[in-house]
Amino acid sequence: MKTGTCPKCGSNEILTNLALKGSDSVQPYVSVTEPEPPNRPFIWVPKFVQSAFHACICGTCGYTEFYAIKHQELNEARKNGFIGK
Ligand SMILES: [Zn+2]
Repeated sequence: MKTGTCPKCGSNEILTNLALKGSDSVQPYVSVTEPEPPNRPFIWVPKFVQSAFHACICGTCGYTEFYAIKHQELNEARKNGFIGK
């Protein structure tokens, strides 16, 4: 819907880049984490990438899409073997 047309009803009345609201403790997010290395150092803390979302909503039918805000960082982490949990 970033193209501005609803894939469900064809409307062009789209609300974009809406932040998801909620209390700090229930904000939805995804997280990917660095896998443990084979020869784990004595002190090792896994790196991770987390992302919240923004939403695009069709004002005509209500169809909603979510987009990860840090999608590029998530994809770089994926290329480096980070996994979702
Ligand atoms: Zn629609």
